[in-house]
Amino acid sequence: MDYCPVCGQKMTHDEIESHKIMRCSCGYIDWDNWVNLSAVSVCYNDSGEFMMVHLKGKSKGKITFPGGFRNLGETLEEAAIRECYEESGYTIGELELYKVYTKDDIRLVWVVFRARIIKGSFLENNETEGVSFHTTSNLPDMTKLRGSLTERLLKDIIEEGKKDGR
Ligand SMILES: [Zn+2]
Repeated sequence: MDYCPVCGQKMTHDEIESHKIMRCSCGYIDWDNWVNLSAVSVCYNDSGEFMMVHLKGKSKGKITFPGGFRNLGETLEEAAIRECYEESGYTIGELELYKVYTKDDIRLVWVVFRARIIKGSFLENNETEGVSFHTTSNLPDMTKLRGSLTERLLKDIIEEGKKDGR
């Protein structure tokens, strides 16, 4: 970013404690640490099973949790609810912040909620070809997880299940 988002002046390169930054004479500093926020949810049905979505298209065969990028103007909860509906057809509620994961090489942050499935059934959509429901004793095929954040989140759910005896 060359121009200051606060006052519009041209910014200059500088360094603070070996971080390369851009600085404006008005005091604004661009730390070059932007990330995209993705709102992800672990959605439980009334039987205590959580839902995973089965991707199609380029990622066909891969399994992950419903979620996606927050649009500007949306709260993260609104983004999680919208993405879950778009990718599964299920409406979720009672969202509770669960965990946050970062993946700096692709400037991605997952904000993960736990939520309850209120209603719905699978709806045809562009991103997924189906959903499946799991517990820690009925896990999905672990070789089909999409990416390291899906793996980390599922591991944490499994660990937590052991603690709670679920
Ligand atoms: Zn400025």
